[in-house]
Amino acid sequence: MENIIELKNILSYPKDIVIISHRNPDGDAIGSSMAFRYFLESFGHVVKVVYPSDYPNTFEFIKGIDECLIYDNDPDKVEELIKKADIISCLDFNSLDRIDKMGLMVSESKAKKILIDHHLDPEPFSDFELSETSASSTCELVYKFIQLMDEDRKLNTFISELLFIGLITDTGSFKYSTNPYTYEVASSLKSKGADDYKIQDLIHNTMTTKQIALLGHCLANRLEIIPEYGAGIITLSKQDYADFDIGRGDTEGIVNYILMMQGMNVAAFITEQPTIVKLSLRSKGDISVQDMARKYFNGGGHKNASGGALYSKLDSVVEKFKTVLPEFVEKKK
Ligand code: 5GP
Ligand code: MN
Repeated sequence: MENIIELKNILSYPKDIVIISHRNPDGDAIGSSMAFRYFLESFGHVVKVVYPSDYPNTFEFIKGIDECLIYDNDPDKVEELIKKADIISCLDFNSLDRIDKMGLMVSESKAKKILIDHHLDPEPFSDFELSETSASSTCELVYKFIQLMDEDRKLNTFISELLFIGLITDTGSFKYSTNPYTYEVASSLKSKGADDYKIQDLIHNTMTTKQIALLGHCLANRLEIIPEYGAGIITLSKQDYADFDIGRGDTEGIVNYILMMQGMNVAAFITEQPTIVKLSLRSKGDISVQDMARKYFNGGGHKNASGGALYSKLDSVVEKFKTVLPEFVEKKK
């Protein structure tokens, strides 16, 4: 970010700031936006966090999360807020279609825009951009942003723990997407008193009996393996959603179980939603589910973790996944 001095000047007087993250906010979206909120508030800015859709229950432990606004629930209030904002910060996404109707409001707004993100190919809508695809997470980049601002002293234990959330969730607890700097950030956050064991426990050991039962159902009854391509698919129909009373967040992480099996390199979790069929895709190594999501499923994300959606029938989406698979994965001998 070469124009950091200009941004420092802008931020030297109290401003109305809106922080926006993406639809279906995950740990990184939530951790980074909440940490950025408290960082900015410490300078006297008035800050509001907005998500297009509601956050998973898992993150209810975060102090102040209930003060964020959900566009789906409060569209008029959010529109008003965006209209009067001096600064809009976009965290953990880089294309305006990831925030639905707010995308147009943001592009039409005269506010200065800050983008902090780690996805590929940022759209050129921001005035200040910290965009690095090599970063593990947006939380890592918010940490970097605070260093670039020369404001390390603002990183208290509370903000450090918020940043730890994205580090943990976007790297699968440091199993992938890391780089040497990720560990420097983790080290620094822990030095500032962040209790990473507590954060791990709050994020991972909070499954309800319903979620455990659903996981069992997916693995026992809804898993299809395609051994010659090292691929696995789990599907959930609308009926499954009704039978298990599946709510937001209940399906989080199920896709990862596929890759725990020997010989598995690609995983698809395909769910029938009220109007669309959504895909969560995961892969190992050089296999790019990002290319697959972009080319065939109106989506994108990261090389080894992507998503997308189609207006189609569940069965046809499953068939499409199987049909396009050989383009991305070599057949085993
Ligand atoms: P998940 O499978 O956990 O929903 O998403 C994994 C990653 O894929 C996310 O971090 C996000 O970057 C990306 N992703 C998920 N759904 C979509 C989508 O519909 N469009 C795009 N462009 N990316 C998505
Ligand atoms: Mn992220």
